[in-house]
Amino acid sequence: MSTLVFVEHHFSESGEGELQKGSLGILAKAAQLGGEVAAVVLGSGVEALAAEAGAYGATTVYVADDPRLTAPLPQPRVDVLAALVQDKAFETVLFAQSILAADMAAGLSARLDAGLNWQLVDIVSEDGTVVGKQSALGDSVLVDVGWTSTPRLALFRAGIVDPVESGGTAGVEKLEVRFEEHSLAAEMLEQAHEESSGPSIEDADVIVAGGRGLGAPEGFGMIEELAKALGGAVAATRAVVDAGWYPYSAQVGQTGKSVSPKLYIACGISGAIQHKVGMQGSGTIVAINKDANAPIFDFADLGVVGDLTQIAPKLTELLKARR
Ligand SMILES: Cc1cc2nc3c(=O)[nH]c(=O)nc-3n(C[C@H](O)[C@H](O)[C@H](O)COP(=O)(O)OP(=O)(O)OC[C@H]3O[C@@H](n4cnc5c(N)ncnc54)[C@H](O)[C@@H]3O)c2cc1C
Repeated sequence: MSTLVFVEHHFSESGEGELQKGSLGILAKAAQLGGEVAAVVLGSGVEALAAEAGAYGATTVYVADDPRLTAPLPQPRVDVLAALVQDKAFETVLFAQSILAADMAAGLSARLDAGLNWQLVDIVSEDGTVVGKQSALGDSVLVDVGWTSTPRLALFRAGIVDPVESGGTAGVEKLEVRFEEHSLAAEMLEQAHEESSGPSIEDADVIVAGGRGLGAPEGFGMIEELAKALGGAVAATRAVVDAGWYPYSAQVGQTGKSVSPKLYIACGISGAIQHKVGMQGSGTIVAINKDANAPIFDFADLGVVGDLTQIAPKLTELLKARR
């Protein structure tokens, strides 16, 4: 069995690089399959970062370091991945959820005519057969999914597994890159960065989410304060992103993102099924809602019935004082 994990990275404004927590977590999943586990890091100026993947379970880290891999565009990366997967005959290729990874997985699937299962919450080896676990019917059942041929491609749901440091080291192998002409045709003209100081909702251990109960867009100010006090990220319901109160990238739910932080604090959120499916995998769910009959209290672990405009700032104040 040989498994390759695509490990994504970020660069901060100051130029400091970091491997994405979600993809390091997937290395731990790959290790559960047994056999050889390798990672691949693709970008520009990433060689120094690559070795770090060894501490999370990869025995070999392949690195393609090329200026043409600077922009987060999928096609040049598909060229490198396709050649690597074919050359080393990897049987399984795993991706953590991200916009770039989803584009790459789809591109690789088309390029290699390989099956892709997505939104997996787990992957296991059962009697020598690799089986993916996909959650369905509003997360009430787990469905087994499989592949009829290799390489098997899989894209995981966001935040399903934390990285586990194994303390190992990896051999780093530099890849020769060759690009198809059409793969370099797309050019990134501009990249806008959202102003945010905390973790992304995919990576955060704590999420504070706001809904229509905030009353107005300005209500997100107190949600941001609370999230900051907890070192967490801010999420939102579709009702408020549709109303233009908060960016779409923060939407959690059926038509937004699926998240599973350790703690999810829902403020002024009714708990509609379409929101629930995106956050019910959270470790502990705390709901603040003034309506004791709000559906969210049916699946929250802890509930506070009251006015969030009173409770949220008080909570922030207490957290700050405690620190
Ligand atoms: C096809 C489809 C896809 C959808 N996809 C999504 C999705 O991905 N994500 C999503 O979130 N929704 C989605 N929805 C919408 C979903 O059905 C709900 O309409 C939405 O989640 C409701 O958002 P909300 O909880 O913010 O608002 P509401 O349902 O209006 O709830 C507001 C809550 O705030 C409480 N409240 C009011 N004032 C206060 C106060 N001062 N203090 C405390 N509590 C207060 C109220 O009691 C109420 O429970 C989808 C719907 C459809 C049809």
